[in-house]
Amino acid sequence: MAPADDTPTVGAIEAGGTKFRCALGRGVEVLVSRRIATTTPAVTLAAVVDFFVEAQAAFEPARAFGIGSFGPIDVDRRSPRYGCILPTPKPGWAGVDLADPLIRRFGRPVAVDTDVNAAALAESTLGAGRGLESLAYVTVGTGIGGGLIVHGRPVHGLLHPEMGHIAVRRDPRDLSFAGTCPFHGDCLEGLASGPAIQARWSQPLDAIPADADAPAIIGGYLGQLAANLALMVSSERVVFGGGVMNSGALLPYIRTRTQGLLNGYLTPSRVRDSLDDYITAPGLGESSGLIGALLLAIRCAADQRSATAITTP
Ligand code: ZN
Repeated sequence: MAPADDTPTVGAIEAGGTKFRCALGRGVEVLVSRRIATTTPAVTLAAVVDFFVEAQAAFEPARAFGIGSFGPIDVDRRSPRYGCILPTPKPGWAGVDLADPLIRRFGRPVAVDTDVNAAALAESTLGAGRGLESLAYVTVGTGIGGGLIVHGRPVHGLLHPEMGHIAVRRDPRDLSFAGTCPFHGDCLEGLASGPAIQARWSQPLDAIPADADAPAIIGGYLGQLAANLALMVSSERVVFGGGVMNSGALLPYIRTRTQGLLNGYLTPSRVRDSLDDYITAPGLGESSGLIGALLLAIRCAADQRSATAITTP
């Protein structure tokens, strides 16, 4: 274990559609934090820079910054547009470079990933997935997003996982609803996100009577994702977070549907007897995204240290 004085001071941003959570941390210990409303890119990012000017003056400069952002976002380090928001329905944000204002002002490296990959990294390292090699983190809220960790690293690939947009089999009780996804209609997000629930039942899930079909229908769709994760990437745990999951009412329905779909397949694995350990709530509550951004920054600082050590004669 590294001595305490080797713990880097780092900056972290959890960039969300309604708010940016910023923190200066000593390692993953938050020294100071601030919530900033997401408005226009210029106003929001100026407020982010102001926060870090004040925070670093009060403590010490950050060695690196980590950003976990809403997507889609370019997370390819070799790309000239690394850290830029890609075409998005969110007005004004397409093409915005989240890293550039920090690099220009503070001259320190910035690591960028999706909000859900950051949350997955935090859950994998310090939360519900400690001790496992792989974990998926799924958030169910305004949209549905998923991050994936394999051997301790967030998976990127073609772009980054967008598991909220997979096609799912329709529940027979739910055939008339067209779905809310502007791209796919009745993809998972179009059927099971907060807005999709609101569109069907005119109220949020936790206001719908427990004996209604809604929790079973929504849990059933999410269970299809969990089963597919088990089959496609052999994920050792799937963590479900986000506003729609907050009541905890969906987890049993998700487990039941996953077990029904697998139907005894994957029998040598830990999903054979009980899915209580395979499908869980976040271990870090609502902090996973911000802690994940701190971890991205800590890794970034360590990578830079080793790169400096190699290039310094
Ligand atoms: Zn979709």
